Amino acid sequence: MGTTYAIRIARASLAPRELRALQTDVDAALDELNRQMSAWRPDSEISQFNRAGAHEPVAVSPDFQFVVRRALEIAAATEGALDPTVGALVNLWGFGPDGLRREAPTSGQIAAARKTTGWRHLTLSPDGRLSKAVPGLQLDLGAVAKGHGVDRIAALLRDRGLEHFLVEIGGETLAEGLNADGEPWRIGILRPDAERMLSSAAGPVGAGHDPNSPASSGRGTSKTENAPAPCDSMLHGVVHLSGGRAVATSGDYRQFFRDSDGRIRSHIIDPRTAAPAGHAVASVSVLAPDGLTADALATALLVLGPDEGLRLLRRGFPGIEALWILHSPDGGFEEVATRAFVSAARYQPPLP
Ligand code: AMP
Ligand code: MG
Repeated sequence: MGTTYAIRIARASLAPRELRALQTDVDAALDELNRQMSAWRPDSEISQFNRAGAHEPVAVSPDFQFVVRRALEIAAATEGALDPTVGALVNLWGFGPDGLRREAPTSGQIAAARKTTGWRHLTLSPDGRLSKAVPGLQLDLGAVAKGHGVDRIAALLRDRGLEHFLVEIGGETLAEGLNADGEPWRIGILRPDAERMLSSAAGPVGAGHDPNSPASSGRGTSKTENAPAPCDSMLHGVVHLSGGRAVATSGDYRQFFRDSDGRIRSHIIDPRTAAPAGHAVASVSVLAPDGLTADALATALLVLGPDEGLRLLRRGFPGIEALWILHSPDGGFEEVATRAFVSAARYQPPLP
């Protein structure tokens, strides 16, 4: 997945041998995920599907089926704000396996890529065969794979009898049980400008980070309980999490496209415009009962922004809470949150 992971276990004493065995199992599970869902690996299941023609069904593994099924459900529930078929557009704007680009694509290129996208063109048969209804459709599970990964690792840890742990992959985090002090785990939400506080993120015109490079790991949510901990001034706020709940963050600041007029564009595509989501949202953090849902909705709610996003959540997403951090005209940040984001997570907002 081109990112890092961290696991913290509390209130258990594992012998070094047990820890090594656990590490081997975790690495094997993550390797398997990469073989399934990494579009950067030519031999992965997703790459095989992406090379297939229209109406040429490809059999995929049960885990892959589960992720695609959930992604399609959430695509329908968010009216396509999450769309796992945006691969061609992601590539066209320089955020996919084809690599970075320095100029915005032409309207002709955008129109051509758009013809190959749309979650309604993707079908999964009951016997686990995936097919595309339009030639060139490219599946992209980048918005959900890390969240699914934390769910997989959490299940593995529960299977081993562990009851208190924090799992984090590339900033998406799941908290089970309590920390070593017997308290809910504390997870920091990074300030959207935290990266820039460390180094100048202002690159040349073109895309920001290579999503495949390890340097692009860990964006968004960061865990105050895992090393290396960012200093407090880099945190926008802190959520307290337990009970197997997850928090995921999507932001415009780790990977971006800089317009010729200097405007930064997010690596998240608004499927309605076929262009990078272009509003004032710096980041969205979502609390959900599982990692995949948190990850999927963070991406979708970044596309929708707070007005439409809040409307959507009110229509029926029980157990989902969201926090938007918005760029304010004075160069600072403002926040909009569902009422229960604050109480459900005992969220501590930044000091004024
Ligand atoms: P995340 O960081 O979880 O928000 O996921 C962003 C990644 O998902 C991008 O790097 C793309 O690979 C992919 N992506 C971009 N826009 C969308 C979208 N609207 N729906 C689904 N996946 C997307
Ligand atoms: Mg996501």
